[in-house]
Amino acid sequence: MFDLIPDMAAKRAEITPGALAFHDTTTGRGWSFARINDAANAVAAGFRARGLVEGDRVAIICQNRVEFFISLFACQKTGVILCPLNWRQPALELVEILAQAGISLMLTDAEFLDTAREAAAGMGAPVLTIEDDLAGWIRDGGPALKAPVPSERPWYLLFTSGTTGLPKAVIQTARMAWANTVNIGQAIDIASTDRAVCFLPLFHTAGINLYTLPVFLTGGSSTILPKFEAEAVLGLLASGRINQFFAVPAVYQALSLMPGIEDLDWSSIRCGCGGAPLPEPLIRFFGAMGANVLNGMGMTETGPTVFLMDPAHAAQKIGSVGRPQSLVEVRLDGVADGAEGAGELQVRGPGVTPGYFGNPDATEKTLAGDGWLATGDVARRDADGYYFIVDRIKDMFISGGENVYPAEVERVLNAHPAILETAVVGVPDEKWGEAGAAFVMLRPDQTLAPETLRPWCRERLAGYKVPAHVRIVEDFPRTAAGKVCKPKLREAFSYD
Ligand code: ATP
Ligand code: MG
Repeated sequence: MFDLIPDMAAKRAEITPGALAFHDTTTGRGWSFARINDAANAVAAGFRARGLVEGDRVAIICQNRVEFFISLFACQKTGVILCPLNWRQPALELVEILAQAGISLMLTDAEFLDTAREAAAGMGAPVLTIEDDLAGWIRDGGPALKAPVPSERPWYLLFTSGTTGLPKAVIQTARMAWANTVNIGQAIDIASTDRAVCFLPLFHTAGINLYTLPVFLTGGSSTILPKFEAEAVLGLLASGRINQFFAVPAVYQALSLMPGIEDLDWSSIRCGCGGAPLPEPLIRFFGAMGANVLNGMGMTETGPTVFLMDPAHAAQKIGSVGRPQSLVEVRLDGVADGAEGAGELQVRGPGVTPGYFGNPDATEKTLAGDGWLATGDVARRDADGYYFIVDRIKDMFISGGENVYPAEVERVLNAHPAILETAVVGVPDEKWGEAGAAFVMLRPDQTLAPETLRPWCRERLAGYKVPAHVRIVEDFPRTAAGKVCKPKLREAFSYD
């Protein structure tokens, strides 16, 4: 897009110094843009005093708190690359993940100090705490910095959700952040008066980019909750302090089961959703209460948004993720431009990552030389130009020579009144090569005989798509982003 981009915290401090940037519920304190920038300057000075230079990696492990963003902006000022880590992972897993990045320093809050020490030990990286070391830096202050940032420079690394395998370290840049801000801003009219909530984990793209960073860059504010807790989120939504809300389907699902959800007034809250298939009954459930839940599609590699449904057409196009956003070009492999059809979704634009960190092979496989990124997802375009995510190519299985997309089977199962959520995977089958296995979670207080689900599917699907096996389960193995971990389900099936 542009070669140089103004330092983001310094720019906001210049435009709206006294306006509220963050309200951190852990301490109950508000932070103006000027204070965020001062603190980021101080942390940048701390990094330099520790000998860190552009390109060095610093890991951070904490739940959501304002110091995460202060560190993020300090990284932008210094060229140090932030690597947010999943606080749910034990040290041994973190070591494996960090091998992709290599780090010079580990930041942690007191809660994760032991894990951080154990994970950092193998790399010889010192561990500093947010409560003592970072707080000390912030108290001491540092010189004002306002240098422009090369838009292509790696700013932070985000690990993918690990839904299909080991999480991959995706380079994130200032260019990607601004592309996302334009895309989101235009799709849902983000304004400087907006108030968002930041509770999705900051070690995934949604936590940072939907919508905290776009709202920050536009001059709005975000309330930070340490993590998702249905009651706290519901309380905040009911307080009238929030007008922009983004969550993943698992969060909407959890909220839908909360007592009192029917009393919530959604009239001034705009709702986005993405990251995994959004079950239609859920859209209808919230729609009946006046919440227009907009389905969007994105990925870590695309900064993240590719699609977000436009509010005016959401009700007519339930299940669609809308049309490509302003700074995004898409094409479907094997489908002529503008035609109806399905094929692998490919994406190009300033929101797309320059690549996977330290992994040129994976970068080459995913990003063609001409800038098109292969998403690994199949999408369909309808006659009106609206897109539907069909499924991941990796999850498709072949039964009796026919391709089966589990998401289609899941949609049919999810429409059953007793069912809360389902996950279908392909498992080996002597006769058909592969066959479907459906894992089914029931709504609270519902019972169901598994054998009744095959006739339900047979009425609505071609025979080869009907799952051969149905299991009622209490929950699914999930990633930290709340996505169902299908490799683990396949494994679980083969052990039974
Ligand atoms: P990994 O790449 O490690 O296997 P992941 O692909 O789940 O994990 P993310 O980058 O967080 O990691 O997720 C992007 C993927 O999520 C997309 O490629 C797509 O498969 C899925 N996805 C995102 N939004 C939607 C949506 N609205 N409907 C269906 N699937 C979606
Ligand atoms: Mg992926």
